[in-house]
Amino acid sequence: MAAHFTSKRPVSNSIPPNGTIRRVTKNPFASGDDVVSCSSFSFRKCLNVGNIKELNSGDIVKLFPDGRIIRLWDATSFQNCLFVTNGCNFRCLMCPQPPCADNPDQHNENLRLLELMNCKVEMIGITGGEPTLFPERLMEYFDVINRKFPSSRVEILTNGSMFSDFAMSKRLALAAPLDICYCVSIHGDTGSLAESIMRCNGGWDKALQGINNLAKLQQQIEIRVVLTKNNAPYLEDIAVFLYRNFPFVYHIAFMGQEITGEALENYSEIWVEPIDYASSLDCAVRYLAAMDMNVSIYNIPLCLLPETSRKFAARSISDWKQTYIEKCEGCMMKSDCCGFFTTSGKHYPRGIIPSK
Ligand code: SF4
Repeated sequence: MAAHFTSKRPVSNSIPPNGTIRRVTKNPFASGDDVVSCSSFSFRKCLNVGNIKELNSGDIVKLFPDGRIIRLWDATSFQNCLFVTNGCNFRCLMCPQPPCADNPDQHNENLRLLELMNCKVEMIGITGGEPTLFPERLMEYFDVINRKFPSSRVEILTNGSMFSDFAMSKRLALAAPLDICYCVSIHGDTGSLAESIMRCNGGWDKALQGINNLAKLQQQIEIRVVLTKNNAPYLEDIAVFLYRNFPFVYHIAFMGQEITGEALENYSEIWVEPIDYASSLDCAVRYLAAMDMNVSIYNIPLCLLPETSRKFAARSISDWKQTYIEKCEGCMMKSDCCGFFTTSGKHYPRGIIPSK
């Protein structure tokens, strides 16, 4: 089963100035050290006075002169990530992280973060924007990870297009940590469908070429299909396409939507009720499983899936943005269910029925 690093932390367009990055060496709440306070702020996870005790030894935080504190790294979580850039060469309709100009300061912050990390790290996510727009940055992260955390799992969320450059792919592959997985988004079984979602002419060919180059370089690949109104009618075709063309990939994940960013902007264009595609999703995942592929469903509550699909569903939503609704109280499946994105606001899917 793949690790469940699924999403990107909410990031503002620019890094606020004057932040200082520190490692927490003791629980400030337990020690009575209450110098940090916080107001509401959307850059990564922001702590407030009431939950300072959430901090753990080994966490990395960013402190601001006005008292805000932002946890950049949670030492107890498997879902931490390095956010490489806001820039992206695609404009996907349902992107929860609308692309915008790159801020090079982010790179220095990431290097500082890696420098301060000193506890065991199971998993490091690398995300953006499109992190591979800046291969030199990735090489620097790889260098530190190889030295400090050689056994850590690394997962890169990517649209795959930059890997169409074989020379660049080879350089990255040679520098990469041993346990790395490239999680490539593919949203259709034809160029016209995929490009209508990714909104990038030529992006489809490049992404496919990128997957093939990564395979030639013997890199581990996961394919992620985000489920939208556009591709929901073709899930079985997509499953056949993926098996026929990429039988070598390590894992395939079908993913429910997070309604924020571009997804919120384009809500009427992309939203489809999971309950309306659940049976074709069931056929798609069972087909792939029958072909011996490792397949999962992410971000879709268990009660919306037919029983035959539930074993493929993962508790996939990152803990810092996962929630349940009132109806979920007392549901027998709650401990295995992914629940909902807090970042999707009140956009709950239709048909939630607790299992009693
Ligand atoms: S009722 Fe809630 S906890 Fe139970 S399966 Fe549905 S969404 Fe999950």
